Amino acid sequence: MVAIDKGTAAGVSFALTEEQKELRALAHTFAEREIRPHEAECDAEMRHPADLIAKAHELGLMNLHVPAEYGGLGLSAFDGLLVSEELYWGCSGIGTSITANGLGSGPVLLFGTQEQQARWLPPLIESPILCSFALSEPGAGSDVAALRSTAVRDGDEYVLNGSKTFITNAGHAEWAVVFAKTDPAAGRRGMSAFVVEMGSAGVTIEKHLEKMGQRATDTSAFALTDVRVPVENRLGEEGDGFKIAMATLDFTRPGTAIGAVGVAQAAYEHALEYSKERVTFDLPIAMHQAVGFMVADMATEIQASRLLCWQAAWMLDNGMGREATLYSSFAKRFAADTAMKVTTDAVQVLGGYGYIKEYPVEKLMRDAKLFQIYEGTSQIQRLVIAREIFTPKG
Ligand SMILES: Cc1cc2nc3c(=O)[nH]c(=O)nc-3n(C[C@H](O)[C@H](O)[C@H](O)COP(=O)(O)OP(=O)(O)OC[C@H]3O[C@@H](n4cnc5c(N)ncnc54)[C@H](O)[C@@H]3O)c2cc1C
Repeated sequence: MVAIDKGTAAGVSFALTEEQKELRALAHTFAEREIRPHEAECDAEMRHPADLIAKAHELGLMNLHVPAEYGGLGLSAFDGLLVSEELYWGCSGIGTSITANGLGSGPVLLFGTQEQQARWLPPLIESPILCSFALSEPGAGSDVAALRSTAVRDGDEYVLNGSKTFITNAGHAEWAVVFAKTDPAAGRRGMSAFVVEMGSAGVTIEKHLEKMGQRATDTSAFALTDVRVPVENRLGEEGDGFKIAMATLDFTRPGTAIGAVGVAQAAYEHALEYSKERVTFDLPIAMHQAVGFMVADMATEIQASRLLCWQAAWMLDNGMGREATLYSSFAKRFAADTAMKVTTDAVQVLGGYGYIKEYPVEKLMRDAKLFQIYEGTSQIQRLVIAREIFTPKG
């Protein structure tokens, strides 16, 4: 059983360093000046924001965790949250396009050998290329071990076959970490992970999926047909795939959760401003207690979500393993559900205008829904939390 933490955060200061404040300000300014002006158009047209990805890359707002020895900044999980919240505040679809390399490169960062890291990480710093994390399949989302893609060893290569779906940025990625079964009879212990170049013969993008929200991010389905991958592209040993996938998701979960905080913060700010301006029955609607309390709950729950994300990231940065898994799920579950509630309430505060596309909050409500689904649904987060609470430690 993992004890609920009462004291480990005692050493944490909530005062950000000057560098952290500057990093956050840089991301905020970028979100305000570059992302916001394009969010409506990218949403309406499902436009992949290659130009904004390139600008973010130039400013050093991508691939934050790549170590200095490979040309990156080697920033902490905590620092990454400061950037992500602002980018998602700008637009979560564009924000996801910019930050998803963190998920794509996560398995290489966490499990790659020196040679593998030296091969795959520096190009991410040198130019704004994208990489993806290809775990989900048409028949395997929450139930990861049910995946059916196979990788069969043939001399110095593996031959991969299967279908992947819902893969962020896959339609524009240079490479993806693909999870496939090397021993289909062994369930989760039979999964392995491979870096696959998306230009390889046999990789076919089948569909750019049309989504309800976060429409600026490409989400694609692709097929693998007799794709030959050299043995040196396997991450870890055969059978390590499940462990690699779960550890990567533990690492990225607070970063996804803080995206939900950014969306909720944006909705809150719109609702707050509108509630001060809109007059009914001779009063600004903020003065009607029902509206004022909605705004008060938004502010409270957003801050609680932000602090859970910060604590989870701090635990990851301090090597707190199993506790970090629990807190990452606390953060993801709570922040995702908060974003859904806050954005729904923001539409309510704007009344009929909230439902109209000329106003920004209906998009935020559509965008928020995804946080309850990807990188582990809210139900799966509860499953993880219950398992961590009830399973004996050790
Ligand atoms: C826009 C988008 C981007 C994505 N990006 C990626 C990506 O980059 N890479 C990648 O690999 N995947 C990605 N995904 C896939 C995503 O992680 C899965 O959609 C998610 O894990 C849910 O899987 P599923 O869709 O198969 O739903 P299912 O697993 O079929 O779940 C359906 C419903 O049943 C519930 N449920 C399932 N099992 C249980 C259980 N044991 N207990 C309680 N409830 C349960 C779920 O919570 C959900 O409500 C993305 C998805 C979307 C929509």
